Amino acid sequence: MSRRDVVVVGGSIAALTAVEVLRMEDFDGRITVLSEEDVPPYTRVPLSKGVLAGTESIDDIVLAPLADDVDLRLRTAATALDLDTKTVHTPSGPVHYDGLVIATGGRARRLGTPDQQERVLRTHGDCARLRDALAAASSVLVVGGGFLGMEVASTARALGKEVTVVDLALPLDRLLGTVVGGYVRSVATQAGVRIVVTDGGVRLQGAPTPTGVQLVDGTRLEADLVVSAVGDVPNVEWLAGSGVAVRGGLVVDHRCRVAPDVVAAGDVTVTSVGDGQLTRSPQWTNAVEQARTAVQALLHGDAAAPYRPSRYCWTEQFGLDVKMVGEPDAQGGPAVLDGALDSGSALLAWPDAGTPRTVIAVNHRTPPAKLKRLLRPAQGALLC
Ligand SMILES: Cc1cc2nc3c(=O)[nH]c(=O)nc-3n(C[C@H](O)[C@H](O)[C@H](O)COP(=O)(O)OP(=O)(O)OC[C@H]3O[C@@H](n4cnc5c(N)ncnc54)[C@H](O)[C@@H]3O)c2cc1C
Repeated sequence: MSRRDVVVVGGSIAALTAVEVLRMEDFDGRITVLSEEDVPPYTRVPLSKGVLAGTESIDDIVLAPLADDVDLRLRTAATALDLDTKTVHTPSGPVHYDGLVIATGGRARRLGTPDQQERVLRTHGDCARLRDALAAASSVLVVGGGFLGMEVASTARALGKEVTVVDLALPLDRLLGTVVGGYVRSVATQAGVRIVVTDGGVRLQGAPTPTGVQLVDGTRLEADLVVSAVGDVPNVEWLAGSGVAVRGGLVVDHRCRVAPDVVAAGDVTVTSVGDGQLTRSPQWTNAVEQARTAVQALLHGDAAAPYRPSRYCWTEQFGLDVKMVGEPDAQGGPAVLDGALDSGSALLAWPDAGTPRTVIAVNHRTPPAKLKRLLRPAQGALLC
């Protein structure tokens, strides 16, 4: 190929995977990685689990080091993109590319006002601050009952804290369906977590350190430590004015392409699902799989295979290891492939065992690769 300079913007799993795939594909040109982080790429997954609990350190979660011939520039944020001149701008000067991979991920969404020092969990720095605050707290209020919020609740509870989770809907139903969502919630409440569902928004109270939330009916919930776990926001601001399409994330096509010689992967992206709708999958496996597709598209164009997501994700909380493939809308009764939820280990399929669209393993030994294969016969549709 004629490209000699590939620039990867981002410093986490999508960026690292892009670099690995470039080398696996025998790209022998120069690779420059621009990361605004102060440490080499690490995995965020344990930040709500072992690192927050204090059983793992940041050194334990650094991902495989980049090869010596990769120019990793830490503390270097991309500030603008010029598609015409093929330049990424940074505070330390412009960087030319022949091929560009955008992997700038997301940041924690915040509820509060600028004068509030809201506790969130996205980076290793957030985690260190949260861990210290957790050590000093007796009670914790987690705002948001998605995977992240419930994992934080689980870790806090395991550390002996009094834990309340507040959300606008029953935690986890949207992500895992009512059957498994209800089961995980029941385990959480048996572990002593209090779950509050409020019909309307919550307002973060207290400044500079939040001390609680106010619900629409006027009820106040207070705790020594308040943690916001209300989703993430794609890091797209640096692309403003560049001409790339941004609609709730950086829009990629079915080969993760953004513009000529520009591809993107991971939490920063939104993908068209064919009927004009855009979907975002801010999960680890999606970041890895998109990075593979994106680099192949950068190197091979239309000859590259289109993005075919496995739609695999997982969460670990309250002693449960929950792995899921397929649509996150498993409603109604599942077909039981093995075990039983009541016994604490189950392999479940929706809508039936023959052509499942969703398979969930709860504390079940089925490895991820086998789970993905269970879904394959029914999974004809490509994201495109
Ligand atoms: C605490 C926590 C626990 C999680 N647990 C799970 C789990 O159990 N299972 C699961 O499937 N997923 C989990 N996730 C989600 C998963 O970690 C993300 O989907 C994944 O990190 C996305 O990778 P990414 O590389 O696309 O983006 P990110 O991880 O967000 O990385 C983006 C990188 O780009 C850098 N960057 C941003 N802007 C710029 C810029 N302008 N210039 C240069 N660099 C920039 C950032 O500093 C960062 O290094 C978890 C996430 C968190 C926060």
